This record gives sequence, C-alpha cells and structure tokens, in this order.
Amino acid sequence: MSETFVRFWGTRGSIPTPGHKTRRYGGNTSCVEVRMNDLLFVCDGGTGLRELGLELQERAPEGLEAHLLFSHMHWDHIQGFPFFVPAYAEKNKLNVYEVTPGETRVQRLLHHQMQSEYFPISFSDLGASIDAGHFTDGELALPGVRVRCLEQPHPGRSFAFSFEAGGRKIVYATDSELDLTLQNPEQAKRDPRALRVMPQQLVDFVSGADLLIADGQYTDAEYVQRVGWGHATASSVVDLAVQARVKQCAVFHHDPMHSDEVVDAKIQSCRERAQNHRSDLIVFGAREGVELKF
Ligand SMILES: [Zn+2]
Ligand SMILES: [Zn+2]
Repeated sequence: MSETFVRFWGTRGSIPTPGHKTRRYGGNTSCVEVRMNDLLFVCDGGTGLRELGLELQERAPEGLEAHLLFSHMHWDHIQGFPFFVPAYAEKNKLNVYEVTPGETRVQRLLHHQMQSEYFPISFSDLGASIDAGHFTDGELALPGVRVRCLEQPHPGRSFAFSFEAGGRKIVYATDSELDLTLQNPEQAKRDPRALRVMPQQLVDFVSGADLLIADGQYTDAEYVQRVGWGHATASSVVDLAVQARVKQCAVFHHDPMHSDEVVDAKIQSCRERAQNHRSDLIVFGAREGVELKF
C-alpha cells in the first residue's frame, strides 16, 4: 500500500485574498489534493487549482487521470477550473462527480461559468476527456479507495467527502454550518466552553480520521453576526474532531477578513479548547503549499 499525501493548494474561503496580510496561510480559495493508493483526488476547484494544474503538468507529462470532487458549486470552489491546464490537453482524463444518479449538474455548471459572457474559452473547447461519475448510496465505486459523501448544512447544500485506504482516513468537510446542527444548543449557549454535541451521523462519518479538513471560518464572536451564511465556528470544528476521535484537524476556509495574525489567534484558541476537553487532538490552520504524509 502506497503512502497517502494531502496538499493544500487553496485554503481561503469566499474570495481570493492575495497580499502581504495573508502570505503565510495563503490567499487562494479552496483546493486540496489527496493522493491515496495511487489515485489522484482533487477536492474543489477554487483558485488554488490553477497552481496544482501547473504542477501536475510537470509531474505527469505523459498524461494523467484525476478525480475532481466538488463540495458544491459556489464561486470560491469552481473559479480555478477554467485555469486548470490539464483540462486543455487531450491526453488527460478528468472525472467529475455527482451525488444524484443521472444528474450532470457539476458538468453543466462548470460549462456555464465558461460561457462567453464570463470567460473567453468555452468548456467544449477543453481537450481532456471530462466524464461525470456518480455516487451510489453515498459511495463511489473506485478500485482501492473507499470514497463516501455526506450532505452538509449550507445554502444550496454542500457535501463532505471521506477517503479511506490501507487503514488511513482523510475527511474533507468544508462549507458546513456545524453550529446549526448542535444537539445541545441551549447548553452550548449557556456555557461556551461546554462540548458542543454533534449529530451522530456526522460523528460516524468523520470517526477516527487521521486528518479532518473542516470549515472553521469564524470565531464565536463573529458567528453571531453571520448565522445562516453557511459556515462554522472554529470552536465547533474542534468539538466535532474531539467527539469523532480525529487525530489531526486542519481548520480550513479562512475568512477573507482574517490576516495571518488573526488566523494564528483563532488556532491558538482551538488548541486551548481541545486541551480543555482533555483531548490530545492536533489542531492547525490549513496553509497553502503544505503537504502532509500519512
Ligand atoms: Zn466556500
Ligand atoms: Zn459555499
């Protein structure tokens, strides 16, 4: 069994934020590469996808096959796609996935964002073969890696993905308003330090992950001003990870208003929270360019 690699190509939420204030965590929007059992998965096609495409071109000059999983089709998760150079070469094969059988919604929406009103090159001019695959009963039929999906609370809905092979498990769960799903909302309101109890189905989905990559866009103070926007507090991500006995947790989808220093402070409070729960969970802020090996 080969090793599992995870690399962050874009960690920002909502809109790209280049500039000196976001240099360390990065300004590109959601894109995470997962290589498992010799399969290449790409979670979301935010602006980070552009640079991944350039690297893949060098890594596999003879052609490649990639599995692209879109959590949902909000701009910050698809805008890198028209700049993904492997999509332009005939030698490459891209599989994009739908949760609902028979649907080709992902393909259709990728197509739409490349209409001439928005972009100079059309989807039909892309050279790679781009096929729609489907989840059956929440699971993909792929050799050697178990890939599952779970619907999440987000305007227009979104999906989390879990990848398992050779005793390793990676979960990518962005754009999810965890704070709307708490099983003990009254207690959580009364005592912000109390463990926020998550739905059992979600805990089971994430359970035992070597790495959970999760939307933790807001501090608790910010969240009260942004209820219903579809994103979670970093505190709730920690509590999910603790309940699901996750080993490492990457807080992801950083708010565009957050400088590197603000993200540092958010991560520090996450670590203190994990300690208060008497957990040895490792928490860190997802950073563009960082690669982890399992
Ligand atoms: Zn997003
Ligand atoms: Zn979204």
